[in-house]
Amino acid sequence: VQIYKRVSDISKVLEALKRKNKLIGYVPTMGALHQGHASLIRKSIIDNDITVCSIFVNPTQFNDKSDLENYPRPIELDIKTLMSEGCQILFLPEVNDIYSKDFEEVDLMQFSSIRNMLEGRFRPGHFDGVISVVKRLFDIVNPHNVYFGQKDFQQCVIINEIIKKYFPQISFHLCPTVRESDGLALSSRNVHLSISERQDALKLSAALALIKNNCAEFEPRDLIKQGLNLINESNRIIVDYLEIVDSETLIAIEKFSPNQTAIAVIAAFCGKTRLVDNMFLHQ
Ligand code: AMP
Repeated sequence: VQIYKRVSDISKVLEALKRKNKLIGYVPTMGALHQGHASLIRKSIIDNDITVCSIFVNPTQFNDKSDLENYPRPIELDIKTLMSEGCQILFLPEVNDIYSKDFEEVDLMQFSSIRNMLEGRFRPGHFDGVISVVKRLFDIVNPHNVYFGQKDFQQCVIINEIIKKYFPQISFHLCPTVRESDGLALSSRNVHLSISERQDALKLSAALALIKNNCAEFEPRDLIKQGLNLINESNRIIVDYLEIVDSETLIAIEKFSPNQTAIAVIAAFCGKTRLVDNMFLHQ
């Protein structure tokens, strides 16, 4: 894997590759790579001539300072993972180079209110940071294809807004959530879980699976109660939200209809670690 730290260097290399008509796939990450990230990289390698992975822990999307400070950064291990997956290019920029004088502020008012819902409600400003950095990264890499994980479903909806507004030439690929065999969605933050917190964390995917299994028989309100009952078997989980929403508008669904695709979404703290997960229903 070739590693570029400077925006000017990677820009030159990618321009040359595009002149040679190489297809570029891009997987943006914050590092601490796991099999979820690897699945995105593998998909990109299949679809493209060159796969670019970026590792950038973006300070502007963290509303919690200690979350930013404690975010895992095992860069040597990440480089090994990228080499063994066959990723060709790692973009590893510094904060100063991303937020340099070339950085253009995005007009956030052009975006829908989805950025202030669900995650946005509990992490104020989070998606404003995501929008700004992803716009900047897409400007730099300007790939043909981008790969994002369903685990951060609301982020995927927002990335689609960015693409529609600024990068209609980019194709977006939604990749399924990779889970441990017991159902826990892989996350870079899972390393912070103690053994008992990890046991609690299993209740998130279990609640989503329960909702999915029962969705033909019950209405959303009852399903959410059932999910919360399961989660409250452990009094150590603090739920930010558990909702059943329309997968396009992210507005809560009161009554299922065949015209809407419903998705159950959850965010909760297990100890100090905040986890998110989701599942499509009726699929
Ligand atoms: P992050 O490093 O957490 O910003 O994630 C980088 C990308 O990997 C995002 O598109 C995430 O949605 C995706 N991702 C994270 N966890 C998983 C997972 N368990 N399965 C699939 N994709 C994931």
